[in-house]
Amino acid sequence: MEEVESKPVKRRTKDLNLWEKIYIPEIIKGLALTFRNIFRPKFTMEYPEVKFEPPASYRGRPVLVQEESGVERCVACGLCSRVCPALAIEVQAAETELEKERFPEKFEINMIRCIFCGFCEEVCPEEAIVMSKDYELAFFNREDALYGKDKLLVPASELEDRIKFLRQYK
Ligand code: SF4
Ligand code: SF4
Repeated sequence: MEEVESKPVKRRTKDLNLWEKIYIPEIIKGLALTFRNIFRPKFTMEYPEVKFEPPASYRGRPVLVQEESGVERCVACGLCSRVCPALAIEVQAAETELEKERFPEKFEINMIRCIFCGFCEEVCPEEAIVMSKDYELAFFNREDALYGKDKLLVPASELEDRIKFLRQYK
């Protein structure tokens, strides 16, 4: 059998010069960078006193769009519930005398499960569920995280910029 010739192991040599070895110039460089940044504009906010106002592209918690008349746009087709990867949406349909014929008797989103992916918004044929700018979600127990229609319905006038954004980019 042919013997495999082993290659000589290369020894790594440190290539620090004298200045790098004493570290002081590097420390001075680091301090200079710190001082330069002290006088630059700050990007941190003093939350919660100062609130972040997200742009229209922001995906906060999903909400249901409520028309001026008080009626929700949702027709309880269940598409959002089917597409939700986190199985966070529960919809129960009922019939209505209105032109749309069906409405969600129960619409619930489990906010602990929601991963803010926006699939529900993408799939909705009625523009009835959209991602809002609300990012303040805190619960003391699991029951509080179940958002029903009382918490989900938001007037269309408050969601105008998201709806416009969707019409432009969806
Ligand atoms: S944003 Fe995603 S995870 Fe949350 S309810 Fe919609 S589809 Fe489900
Ligand atoms: S929110 Fe949209 S996708 Fe979900 S059940 Fe209502 S109409 Fe269908």
